[in-house]
Amino acid sequence: MRKNIVAGNWKMNNDLSKTEALLADLANQTKTSNAEVIVAPTFTNLYQAYKVLKSTDIHVAAQNMHYAENGAYTGEISASMLKSVGAEIVILGHSERREYFNETDALLAKKVDAALANDMTVIFCFGEELADRKSGNEETVVENQIKNALFHLEASAFNKIVLAYEPVWAIGTGETASPEQAQDMHAFIRKTLANKYGAEVADSVSILYGGSVKPANAQEIFSKPDVDGGLIGGASLKAEDFFAIVNAF
Ligand code: PEP
Repeated sequence: MRKNIVAGNWKMNNDLSKTEALLADLANQTKTSNAEVIVAPTFTNLYQAYKVLKSTDIHVAAQNMHYAENGAYTGEISASMLKSVGAEIVILGHSERREYFNETDALLAKKVDAALANDMTVIFCFGEELADRKSGNEETVVENQIKNALFHLEASAFNKIVLAYEPVWAIGTGETASPEQAQDMHAFIRKTLANKYGAEVADSVSILYGGSVKPANAQEIFSKPDVDGGLIGGASLKAEDFFAIVNAF
């Protein structure tokens, strides 16, 4: 059976001392659900997060990586570098990477390949913009994002892939997709996977919802059958709020 997962994307927040305080708060929380817990600090704080959290069952993820193994890519970080500081998971394709750093599906396909070649788990993000939803194109947009970045993979690769559906209009806006909108899209994503790889693969992949998930709405969203957890931005920056979401299953 697929896993429930709650992942916190800390984005470009918290210097080392604030990160240390948040990590200490996290290590003090009690998990009462079966969800796997992941946090994604900035690159500069990954190793500190790994050291503090390795005695807990909270996993550490990076927010991005380059597809090359090393070389003349000033300012970039490779998969093996992430692994060397304890990050075995990487978030790829976040809408902020797509929007502000021009990340395309083709580039993301290369990053996914590099992460998998290094035996990392990928949390692959995608989702439509408001204009797509208003024009009724949300399923086409989402289907293309998934196909373009992932459908060159063998079925076996999907045991290292977590999908995160994040409608762009719901990220950091306070606007959440309704639980029904999330369920409808997640069911469509699973059907898209099943059409290509078969029901067994489709049923084994965790599909997270992201977009203004908070303690107050997590339980209703997570109660939907095809929603296997959340990718949490703003509400992951406070340990109590984050664990209220983790424990909403
Ligand atoms: C995100 O950035 O992945 C996200 C879901 O952010 P927020 O929870 O703040 O909407």
